[in-house]
Amino acid sequence: MTLSFRRPSLLSGLLLVGIIGSYAGCKRDKPPATPATNPAASAQPAISPAPVPGFDANRTFADIVKQVDMGPRVPNSAAHARALKWMDSILTGCTPNVELQHFTDPGYSPGETLNLTNVIASFNPNATWRILILTHYDSRPWADEDPNPKNHSTPIPAANDGGSGTALMLELARQFKNHPPPIGVDLFFDDGEDYGKYKVDNLDRYFLGVKYFVANKPANYNPQVAILLDMIGDSNADFEPETNSVQSAPQWVNEIWNTAKEMGLSHFRTGNGADIEDDHLPLIHAGIPSVDIIDGDLVGHVSPDPNRKYWHTLDDLPKHIAPSTLDEVGRLLLQLIYQRFPRDSQIL
Ligand SMILES: [Zn+2]
Repeated sequence: MTLSFRRPSLLSGLLLVGIIGSYAGCKRDKPPATPATNPAASAQPAISPAPVPGFDANRTFADIVKQVDMGPRVPNSAAHARALKWMDSILTGCTPNVELQHFTDPGYSPGETLNLTNVIASFNPNATWRILILTHYDSRPWADEDPNPKNHSTPIPAANDGGSGTALMLELARQFKNHPPPIGVDLFFDDGEDYGKYKVDNLDRYFLGVKYFVANKPANYNPQVAILLDMIGDSNADFEPETNSVQSAPQWVNEIWNTAKEMGLSHFRTGNGADIEDDHLPLIHAGIPSVDIIDGDLVGHVSPDPNRKYWHTLDDLPKHIAPSTLDEVGRLLLQLIYQRFPRDSQIL
C-alpha cells in the first residue's frame, strides 16, 4: 500500500548537525556471562538534571487498546496503514522532525512485495549527545505459538508484542513536546520486526526495519546508546538484564537497572535474564551499544504463570496489560532522560 504522505529524509538533513539522532524473541540460549549490576556506576553524579515530566499510563493503555481495535498491524494490511497514519499524526503534532523511511521486502509468497515504513521522530535535533529509543509497531502475521494449530497462520492482536512499546513511545513524544528533553532523543518505530519464520530462514526476515535503518544510516549517526522496548506492559512483567544487552552495553544496563532500583520499581529485577534475539542485534552489529528492556519470560512460554503464556498467540490481548507496568517503564525512561543522562563521558 502506497502512502500519500512523504517527507524528505531527516537523517540526511541531520548530517549537518553531526548526528541525529522484537523479536524474534524466538530463541533463548545461555545466561549472561557478565554481572548485571555495577553499583559504582550509579554513584556518579548526573550532569544536567532537569525537572522530570509526568507520564500518563492510562493514556498509554488506551493507545494499546486503540491499536488492537484497528486489527493486527501486519505489513500490507489496512490496519497497518491506519496505524502508521495514526502514529504519524500524533508524532508530527509533537515535533517537526519526523522521518518516514519507506522500503520493501520480497516476503514469503511468490510475487509478493511488502511495503514497509520506519518512523523516526527526533527531539532536540541539534544536540550531539543523543540516545535512540525504539520499538516495533508491526504485528506478527502468524500465531505460530498458539495452542490451537488451526490458528498458526492467523495474525496476532499484538497488544503487548508491538502495541505496548508503540503506545509508550507515543506518550514519551507527548511529554517531549511540552517538556523538551535536555539531550537528543530519537524515537524509532520500526517495521517488519516480527515477520520472520525461524524454521524457514532463521532470522533472515526478522528485524527488517532495523536492518534497513542500519544499512542506510549516516556514518556519523552514532547514538550513545539504543534502548529497545519489547513487550513492556504485562501486569506481572519481569524485566531482567538481557544477555546480549549486558554484553553490548554493561554500563548502560547498570545505569538503567540501578536507576530502577533507586526508584523502587517492582518489575525491574537484577539477575540473569534470557538471551533474546531481537531488534537490538543489528544495532549491536553496527557498533551501537544497545539495551533490550523485554519481559523475557514470555518468550517461549517460560513463565510458569498460566496468564503469561500468550506470546505469539491469539491471546496477546489488552487484558494482560497493566497501566502500572507501563507507568514504571515510562517513568524510568523519563528519569533517565531528564535526570541521569547525559553522564560524564569519561565513565561510559
Ligand atoms: Zn513477537
